[in-house]
Amino acid sequence: MSTYECDGCGACCGAYLIFASESDAAREPRIRDEGRRLADHLVTERWTYQLFPLPFHSSCGFLDADKRCTIYETRPEVCREFAAGADPCQDARRRAGLPPLSVVEVSGQSRNADAGNSASRTTGH
Ligand code: SF4
Ligand code: SF4
Repeated sequence: MSTYECDGCGACCGAYLIFASESDAAREPRIRDEGRRLADHLVTERWTYQLFPLPFHSSCGFLDADKRCTIYETRPEVCREFAAGADPCQDARRRAGLPPLSVVEVSGQSRNADAGNSASRTTGH
């Protein structure tokens, strides 16, 4: 079968507004420490902390110099839902000057085809 496999380019971690919820922060306490809490009237169930854009950051502050997510295992839900190869991924890559992500052929069980903003190549994202 064919699918997309995230190549860990990290483009999506600096291309869109990125928000995390209170439950994301309960799973990953660094979100509370390093994200910006929204004003109360802006808080929703899914949006409590803003991770990007933030001052002095060209991408999410959890992205390291090697384009790896330093909280990958506990990353926000919005990052887990981000699909490698879908239009937002391809658009982020285009804006970063990268070629489109190509379809890859996989045999047997499908490998991890979703990304969720950025970068753990060890899990196929
Ligand atoms: S995957 Fe990690 S580095 Fe990328 S936006 Fe999400 S939390 Fe930030
Ligand atoms: S999901 Fe993000 S990190 Fe993965 S290929 Fe697409 S833009 Fe790059």
